[in-house]
Amino acid sequence: MADPKPVVDAHMHVQPWEMMRPAILEKMKSGRTDLDRIRTLMEKPSEFLKFMDENGIERAVLVNYVSEIMGFTDAVNPWIAKFCAESPGRLVPVGSLDARTSRDPDGDTERLLGETGIRALKIHPSHQMVAPNGHADGTVPALQQVYEVAQKMGRPVMFHTGTSIFQGARNKYSNPMLVEDVAIDFPKLRIVLCHAGRPLWMDEAVFLARRFHNVYLDLSSIPPPRLLDYLPRLEELSGKCLWGTDWPAPGVPSPAENVAAFRALGLSETARDRILRGNAEKVFGK
Ligand SMILES: [Zn+2]
Repeated sequence: MADPKPVVDAHMHVQPWEMMRPAILEKMKSGRTDLDRIRTLMEKPSEFLKFMDENGIERAVLVNYVSEIMGFTDAVNPWIAKFCAESPGRLVPVGSLDARTSRDPDGDTERLLGETGIRALKIHPSHQMVAPNGHADGTVPALQQVYEVAQKMGRPVMFHTGTSIFQGARNKYSNPMLVEDVAIDFPKLRIVLCHAGRPLWMDEAVFLARRFHNVYLDLSSIPPPRLLDYLPRLEELSGKCLWGTDWPAPGVPSPAENVAAFRALGLSETARDRILRGNAEKVFGK
């Protein structure tokens, strides 16, 4: 029977679709038959909370970021903060700033994580054209302040790692090894390597999660039936992996189906509990 414990989905995308560029929107829509429902869920937090109940999700981390490639401006930050204010215990707003153009990275990051109400930062290197270690190699010096402030305020930073097929994505920036400088220079910063480097750089992502106490992997956008092909040592790594679906990304029909497929993998109950819930509490708080 179904595992009774509710799930934390540490990687979902409730986003203002009206901002998306036409080519991106087409990609998001491709193959979906539930577009009207998705639009309603993106517009009404009360409906989204019901959708979470239907899918056995207690808490959802809702990822947004500024990106010219995608069409998202920094208006995504107050947008998602307002959405999550409907149920702060269940909805975790994640946002970002454009570190390439910020003139006051200290102040901008403090305001974002303070008065705006964003609870974690997302950096999408290939959609933002930012090397995660831009603070160290001098290409994006403002990242120094961004990471410092996040570390000081005790807020995690999520990095997209692995490929993206959206138009304009520059995949060279999303090799997880570029995050190693961040883990070394900001040892108290909690870091999530989203998608565990899938599919090109999983060994690199696993290496970092094993090397650094504060580096975690999220399992989103890896088809759950294939998780053990991609991560054969998942049981052993279960203390460092967070559950996530990347819903409603192309190829993710329903969060509940993904959870069911994950539960069928045959991992121990301890490993399942850590991945589906416990590790997310360590990273995002309770
Ligand atoms: Zn995502």
